[in-house]
Amino acid sequence: MHRLCIHTITTKPWPLDEAVRNYAAAGVRHITVWRDAIAPRTPAEAGKLIRDHGLSVTSLCRGGFFPAPAAAARAKAIDENRRCLDEAAALGAPHLVLVCGAAPGQTLAESRKQIADGIAALLPHAAATGVKLAIEPLHPMYAGDRSAVNTLAQARALCRALASPHVGIAADTYHIWWDDDLENQIELAARENLLLAYHICDWRVPTTDFLNDRGLMGEGVIPLRQITAWINRTGCAAPIEVEIFSTRLWAADQHAFLKNIIQAYKQHVL
Ligand code: ZN
Repeated sequence: MHRLCIHTITTKPWPLDEAVRNYAAAGVRHITVWRDAIAPRTPAEAGKLIRDHGLSVTSLCRGGFFPAPAAAARAKAIDENRRCLDEAAALGAPHLVLVCGAAPGQTLAESRKQIADGIAALLPHAAATGVKLAIEPLHPMYAGDRSAVNTLAQARALCRALASPHVGIAADTYHIWWDDDLENQIELAARENLLLAYHICDWRVPTTDFLNDRGLMGEGVIPLRQITAWINRTGCAAPIEVEIFSTRLWAADQHAFLKNIIQAYKQHVL
C-alpha cells in the first residue's frame, strides 16, 4: 500500500477535498493531481490541503501539446507549459507529466521535431522551478491527434537528444503494454535515470471508447504484475499510480470504486 497513488481523474466525480479525505482514510499515501481538480483553490492551497491529510503529490497532469502548424500557436503552448511548471512547483509536485501532442495536417516527423523544440524551450524554466518534465509515450492509436511520441524507445531518444537532467519518462501500462521490447526498454530507461513515473490501469477487450473506457486492474489483458515486476527489478521505487478514465466507473459509487481499486491493486499488481 505504501506505493499506491491515485490520480484525481480516476475518481473524477469527487472534488479535490473529498478525494484527499477519502484516499487518506483508505490508507492511500500519494496523489497525482490533474489541473482541473485544483480550482477553486490556488495550487499552493491545494498542495497544503494534500499534505495536511498526510499525502504526497506525485505529479501534476498535464502539460504538453506542443505541435501546431502555426508558430504563434506553438509559442502559446510553451507559455502554457511554463504556467504548468509554476503550478506544479506551487503544488509541491516534483514532476509535470507531458502529453506531447500531434497536429493533424502535418507529418509525425514534423510534430516530433516541434515536441523536441517545445521541451527544449521549457528546460530553463524547469530548472528554475525544480520540476522535472515527464514525457509520457501514448499508445499509437493517439498518434493522429494526441501524441507523436508512442513508445518508450522514442521517449528515450527524445530524452537523449535533450540531454537534460530535467527531463524523464512517465511509463503508463495502458500505452506501452503491447510493446514486444517492453522489458528491455524499461531496463534501459531506468539505467539512463529516466524512469520518473509509473501509471497503471487495464485494457478492456473489447475497448468501446478510445479515451474513456480504461479498465480497473484485472478487468483486461495487461500483465500488470509482470510489468510491475520489471519496473521494480530496476530498483525504481516510484509510486504506482492508478490512472483510469472510465465513463462506466465514474458513474458508479466512488466509495465502492475506491475499495475496488485497493483490492485490485493488491490482487493484480503487487
Ligand atoms: Zn498516464
